[in-house]
Amino acid sequence: MGERKAVIFCSASYGLDPKYGMAAREAVRALHALNWTIVSGGSFRGTMGDVAEEAYRCGGRHIGVIPRFMKGLEYPHLTELVWTDTMSQRKEAMRAGTRAAIALPGGIGTLDELIETHVLAKLGRYDGRLYALNLDGFYEPFKRLLDHYVAADMLDADSRRLIRFPETVEEMMTDFCG
Ligand code: AMP
Repeated sequence: MGERKAVIFCSASYGLDPKYGMAAREAVRALHALNWTIVSGGSFRGTMGDVAEEAYRCGGRHIGVIPRFMKGLEYPHLTELVWTDTMSQRKEAMRAGTRAAIALPGGIGTLDELIETHVLAKLGRYDGRLYALNLDGFYEPFKRLLDHYVAADMLDADSRRLIRFPETVEEMMTDFCG
């Protein structure tokens, strides 16, 4: 079986509730235990830093993808560093070859990554599983927005279901293994 890669989209912000970093680290440990390679935005900032540190601590393979204009923000102990020219290329390179995409609670950058991946999945251009970790209901407003789109016939119910919203990392990993 080839390398199994999962991309994690998450926050670049500091000063967040520690529960977000803890969930990120739990996800990294769970993926590492199943021998998955982690792909991330490669930065040491915010929750991305938690992902990077935990992957390094576990000794797991961690590919960071970062645009050249963010030089200096890259985490120093990535097992592989991929440079891109633009944010669009970065998103594409992060997703490339992954079997799962996980959006942890995050800001507009994370939301952009989640929505772009959802659009691609809807169009049959991404065939990995897509998760948004609904930790303490973080993604409830987004779920309501999707329901509104479905009710208005702007989004079909099957496409709505392409994003899975596990409440915990454990629930997500159970689904992973299913
Ligand atoms: P946000 O969710 O708005 O904090 O943005 C984080 C996501 O967008 C990450 O997954 C990154 O790929 C990207 N991103 C946005 N801003 C930054 C930044 N200052 N440093 C590194 N990555 C960033």
